[in-house]
Amino acid sequence: MIYLDYSATTPPSDAVLKQYASDNLEFFANPNSIHELGLLAKQKIDQSSLEINQLLGLQNYEVIYTSGATEANNLAIKGFALQNAYRGKHIITSPYEHSSVTTVMNYLAKQDFDIDVLDITEDGTIDLAQLKELLRKDTILVSISLINSELGIKQDLPAIKEILKTHPKVVFHSDMTQAIGKVVVDLSDVDLISMSAHKIYGLKGIGALLRKKSVDLMPVIHGGKSTSRFRGGTPPAPLILSLNHALKNALKDLHQKIKKVTELKTYLIDNILPPVGNYHVNYMDGIPQILNISFLDMEAHLLLKKLSDKGIYISTQTACASESSYSPTVMKLTGSEKFASTSVRISLSHLTTVEELDKFGEALKEILHENR
Ligand code: PMP
Repeated sequence: MIYLDYSATTPPSDAVLKQYASDNLEFFANPNSIHELGLLAKQKIDQSSLEINQLLGLQNYEVIYTSGATEANNLAIKGFALQNAYRGKHIITSPYEHSSVTTVMNYLAKQDFDIDVLDITEDGTIDLAQLKELLRKDTILVSISLINSELGIKQDLPAIKEILKTHPKVVFHSDMTQAIGKVVVDLSDVDLISMSAHKIYGLKGIGALLRKKSVDLMPVIHGGKSTSRFRGGTPPAPLILSLNHALKNALKDLHQKIKKVTELKTYLIDNILPPVGNYHVNYMDGIPQILNISFLDMEAHLLLKKLSDKGIYISTQTACASESSYSPTVMKLTGSEKFASTSVRISLSHLTTVEELDKFGEALKEILHENR
């Protein structure tokens, strides 16, 4: 197996799995129970929240544990918009958002919220001059993800923060699912931050919304008293502890990991792609983990299937929007129907090896040459 789909999800690390197994036995009690075992589980969760804040360099944030980044995005955007609609109904977002943001925006538009989607500039990043112009008295929320999962495009976070400083009442949400644990990021001044464990070698089913404590939300999942008043349900202590564990591991030696992945990406671009021929790199300046390429001789879905038959796994678009070969995001960025219908995403990890990339290159050559 050659797995080159690390942006869709990562395999959980052995350390996280082992710890999770033992935490399930040790901290199985309901953290909402007020007996000693329950209190012990609750204490461990509180300790985990403290450590997550420390790891991410945050002060005065609540860690609201969710089932993943989809729920975190729902809680951030829907929860904030519905709770704060009395102040205004204008929201600004980007064209590079994950479906768990865009579908919430579509829902809010039906509830009479006014949603502006920013344009992109020549270099593929969002139009910050337009962001400045669009901000108005009734703007309550700006939601812009730091990294687009399909092309790896990274937005200029310091510049966005600078613009929003002039509008202190506007709350800034960022979907950091493809950023935390992968790139170095200064999260200060981001009021609501979404993240997910399964993108950073953790377990599926756990994520978090980090909420600056001054930001008020309406719960999306109502329920009894829990670790957070913004999210009902019995807190899954072992899963929660596993998020902390995965984050700790992901941030360890991050610079070295980034260096290694950068070298792998350069190797892919310089050594693997040229002999394959007839391709177009849809975005060159993305984060090292993601490379989006159009192989012009074959429709994306077919190529994915043929690679999969050989035990090599990549994505078309993203895992959450992969039914069609046609990528609206690639179309928007490149203006080419051909690139949009033949684009695939290769996503790398520090676990990826040069040998794997060599084998990937051989398989690509075989499949595409057979087809010509
Ligand atoms: N946002 C982004 C940018 C993502 O890549 C993903 C995962 N595909 C999500 C949100 C959703 O995360 P989860 O699977 O944890 O719900």
